Amino acid sequence: MEITVCIKQVPGTTEVKVDERGNLIRDGIDSKMNPYDLYAVETALKIKEKSGATVNVITMGPPQSEAVIREAFMMGVDEGYLLTDRKFAGADVLATSYTLSQGIMKTGKPQLIICGKQTTDGDTAQVGPEMAEYMGIPHVANVKKILEVKENSILVEMDMPTTLETVEIQFPCLITVEKGIFQPRLPSYKRKKETKDKLITYFSLKDFDDRDDKNYGINGSPTQVERIFPPESNTDKETWTGSGEELGNKLFEKLAELKFI
Ligand SMILES: Cc1cc2nc3c(=O)[nH]c(=O)nc-3n(C[C@H](O)[C@H](O)[C@H](O)COP(=O)(O)OP(=O)(O)OC[C@H]3O[C@@H](n4cnc5c(N)ncnc54)[C@H](O)[C@@H]3O)c2cc1C
Repeated sequence: MEITVCIKQVPGTTEVKVDERGNLIRDGIDSKMNPYDLYAVETALKIKEKSGATVNVITMGPPQSEAVIREAFMMGVDEGYLLTDRKFAGADVLATSYTLSQGIMKTGKPQLIICGKQTTDGDTAQVGPEMAEYMGIPHVANVKKILEVKENSILVEMDMPTTLETVEIQFPCLITVEKGIFQPRLPSYKRKKETKDKLITYFSLKDFDDRDDKNYGINGSPTQVERIFPPESNTDKETWTGSGEELGNKLFEKLAELKFI
């Protein structure tokens, strides 16, 4: 079984600037793997441990996005693919999804594609479902649990606003996973040493089946950023009551959930 996980490099800071077209200026800022994608990688590795699957990761971004692929290698991922080309720059969600779907089709035919729920920079949660539409495969979003991996399908629990639904989908398919589905493992120093020279496969537009540059980057992006402004403050507040011990436990659980500890 082959699994492909989509991972994205996102700014590791809120001190980001945008250019006059509304594009994020990523040069020179601290970056990290999108936190939600750590859950996607962990889900794939858990399936690998049970079924012996091969786990690949793919990212679209500038050459420095190699760093998130190396981090995935340190977690136990088998192969990494980087889609990078100046023609991909300025992509909106539609163009990003199309580029990733073209790239995945170049890597082979994974039975299962796993995405994070959303990113911490773009934050749309649309890339996974749009990729599935481009590839003509079924998808399930907001997956909270993997119940069973069968030979030709996967049984998952999907977190809907007011209900939990159990869904079985046939391979090939795409799922987007919720944070907390599994606890992501830490990158291993041993694997860091073992994989430091591991080759990453680069794809650019010329490698794709569709090489029409009108479908990529800013040319393939119908969305225009008109204005960027800070959102109004609406800080989430939670009020807890209980004994000292209960509140202590609750605080511990909350900090663990937010991955501060
Ligand atoms: C007009 C416009 C111009 C833009 N220009 C740029 C630009 O120049 N440079 C730029 O970096 N961004 C640009 N963006 C933002 C870019 O479109 C989004 O970052 C991108 O579409 C992903 O959307 P998202 O972050 O909301 O992902 P979501 O849909 O929230 O992500 C869901 C999941 O999809 C997967 N995923 C998402 N993006 C990637 C990726 N790149 N590689 C691998 N997996 C991924 C991950 O698994 C992630 O957890 C632009 C957006 C607009 C509207």
